[in-house]
Amino acid sequence: MKKIYLSILSLFLTAQFAFSQTEYYFPGEKFDPEIPSPEEFLGYPIGDWHTRYDLIVKYYEKLDELSDLVKLETIGYTHEHRPKVILTIANESNMANLEAIRQTQVQLADPTQPKPNVSQMPSIVHLGYGVHGNEPSSAEAALLTAYWIVAGQSELAQRVREESVVLIDPTLNPDGRDRHSLWANSNKGFPPVADPLDREHNEAWPGGRTNHYWYDLNRDWLPLAHPESQTKVQWYHQWYPNVTTDFHEMGTNSTYFFEPTKPYGSENPVVPRKNYDEINPIFANYFAKYMDEIGSLYWTKEVFDNSYPGYGSTYPDIHGGLGLVFETASSRGHLQASQRGDISFAFTIRNHVVNSLATLEAAIDNREYMHDYLREFFETAVAEGRKDPAKNYVFGDEYDESRNRLFVQFLLDHQIDVYENNADLRVGNNTFKKGKSWVVPTAQPQYRMVRTMFEYVKEFADSVFYDASAWTMAAAYGMPFAAAPSAQSGVEVKEVAKPVFEFPEGKAYAYLIDWSDYFAPKALYELQKAGIHVEVVNRPFQSQTQEGAVDFAAGTIMIPMGFQKIKDTELIDQLKNIANKNQQKVYKVETGLNLSGIDLGSNSVGAVQQPKVIMLVGPGVSSYEAGEIWHLLDSKVGMPITKVNTDDFGRVNLFDYNTLILASGNYNSLSNSAVEHLKDWIQRGGTVVSLKSASLWLNRQGITNESAVELEEKAEPESLPFASSRDFEGAKAVGGSIYMAELDLTHPIAYGYQMKNIPVYRNSNIFIQPSKNKYLTPIRYTENPHLGGYISDQNLEKLKQSASVLISPSGRGRVVHFFDNPNFRGAWFGTNKLFLNAIFFGNQMD
Ligand SMILES: [Zn+2]
Repeated sequence: MKKIYLSILSLFLTAQFAFSQTEYYFPGEKFDPEIPSPEEFLGYPIGDWHTRYDLIVKYYEKLDELSDLVKLETIGYTHEHRPKVILTIANESNMANLEAIRQTQVQLADPTQPKPNVSQMPSIVHLGYGVHGNEPSSAEAALLTAYWIVAGQSELAQRVREESVVLIDPTLNPDGRDRHSLWANSNKGFPPVADPLDREHNEAWPGGRTNHYWYDLNRDWLPLAHPESQTKVQWYHQWYPNVTTDFHEMGTNSTYFFEPTKPYGSENPVVPRKNYDEINPIFANYFAKYMDEIGSLYWTKEVFDNSYPGYGSTYPDIHGGLGLVFETASSRGHLQASQRGDISFAFTIRNHVVNSLATLEAAIDNREYMHDYLREFFETAVAEGRKDPAKNYVFGDEYDESRNRLFVQFLLDHQIDVYENNADLRVGNNTFKKGKSWVVPTAQPQYRMVRTMFEYVKEFADSVFYDASAWTMAAAYGMPFAAAPSAQSGVEVKEVAKPVFEFPEGKAYAYLIDWSDYFAPKALYELQKAGIHVEVVNRPFQSQTQEGAVDFAAGTIMIPMGFQKIKDTELIDQLKNIANKNQQKVYKVETGLNLSGIDLGSNSVGAVQQPKVIMLVGPGVSSYEAGEIWHLLDSKVGMPITKVNTDDFGRVNLFDYNTLILASGNYNSLSNSAVEHLKDWIQRGGTVVSLKSASLWLNRQGITNESAVELEEKAEPESLPFASSRDFEGAKAVGGSIYMAELDLTHPIAYGYQMKNIPVYRNSNIFIQPSKNKYLTPIRYTENPHLGGYISDQNLEKLKQSASVLISPSGRGRVVHFFDNPNFRGAWFGTNKLFLNAIFFGNQMD
């Protein structure tokens, strides 16, 4: 009895809320009564709670179950195994022909195919929401918008179903969303607390913006370091949507932003001007109309950047579509005070709902126009590529098969045509060998992505960067590359096979593995984990191997058959298995007496200690850098890393570890006794790997004693207009740019590198002088180091006089300082090994 009474009551309440909610979000709209609204399904009005991701998916499953106009598919999984879903909505006939519609759209984007009749093609609209987990209004808007498209009875809703195929991604970052939603819901007060200081509005470190590994997924459409973006971009290329949205939140005191972005300064150099000058203003009129209707304030053409190709709103601009970024004031929590009064969660959701509808209306009104633009985009790409004087880019690293393979696969993931290089080729200082290098012609539909991969940009319309100003991916992968008009393309590469090496049979004195391959550190760690004793040969030598005389570089890994704790047969089985799994070539030697150079028992050969790594994390520490390190060690080395909150450092016994990592940050919360413990541990042999501002903290503690580069500062004008401060001060930052550095190839930090010059990525203003000890600055900048991205003249001068990597010895231990970021965004495969060398060979460095 009680049960029945309750359910009648809840039905009544739900109906009441449904009425008020519908009126708030969709005034005047009628809905198909067979389809439950989100609040009817969830049992609470949208805006009352942060909806858990599994419930978002459940609502979409319900729509799929009830309506023939809906299809829900899973395109992949996040790190934490949440499904990545796409909800497709269209009228019955379009749903019945969905695959044909998709193929026609792909044909439209392919200038080698006849152009389909665009008057017959529905608009392909991709509504993407929630890439930043703690900007939660957009995923709630995704529930309401889906409901409106499926069940709305207005003329516009019917037109949307007839004239478009809508593809909804409710949450690009489900892991981050749930992290934040849990926080906001579990700190909610009754009544709600609008005070910005309340715990509800102030998430704990690292917050829900990022994914599992603390990466900003709204930077990952280019690097594709994570499954969320890998599956997304793969999916994107199956559709080439005409319009793609990307919904965000900004400060609570702000209003609403939609494109156009700031002219020139924040635009991407490869995107056709038509996108910015013609299409964006057309769409902006729709957004303005809808926002004027509800009286919500907004702005355009300021602040937000649209240049970095890894944004979810910029990648579509480089693929013949229109990418659109939207930002609403945030209630961050359910209700928060602002200069305009209290901002409710529902208010922020409604802003995104109306702009979702505005996007749909603009897309169908301009359906044929946007189709023609998509075609024109790829046709002009091929034509411009044909005129590009580079004609071809050739690339390949002679010594690192795995990194080559990763880069070729990366280009293929972005649908770039890649060919084998048919002949040995010399361009400048680089030799590109047949079989170990590849050719990318500029005359191809993905020409604009080819430029993104291989061009350095140094000239900018503006000097303030919201983000990176350089993204040359060939440099990030550490690929030797060059424009080579005369290169001969061979067979087109469709997939990249992993090499298989034959394991040398017969009795061995020792086995050798070259350190050049990207996955050599992974193999080494697996050998150590299997209990195998491994040494490193610190000087070059030549040995007689199963393949005759072979030259080995310093840094070659040796597995001696003596000094092992496991049986010979077990060792060989493990070694064979690990080498095979990681594509490592193993050399066998039968004697320690080398043909030239040092012998295998020299004093310049040392045991490699198995890394036991601890990293400090928490407030004050850069979660991005810490996340990059965590992700690198997990995914590229398979090495566990203990992440300790700075609060818990007092409980740490550093002598249980041999390597401490300090990502950028201030560690001021560490107590004096903790700092004394750290000093003692370093003195007795510990290795600290320190990034950028962490090195300044170490200096302040007297743990190191390095000096900043001091230049006479250029006199600045005594007074400047108030309104110019952002531009003037912003120009002094190093937002993210690429420099050529020079390696000391004899130093352990450079093991595995065969070429002296290496591009490095910098996004800090910390310029530290080379070490006073002339042997301890193994990476410096070249004389003219600036390769790409923005830097002021004054900063470039300081950079030239500073160190990229330097070592500060202390007692029996040392600090290895990195002033560039060797692991930036999981994209800098070319410099990862410098960082891993500091972990594996720290104790060989002084
Ligand atoms: Zn955002």
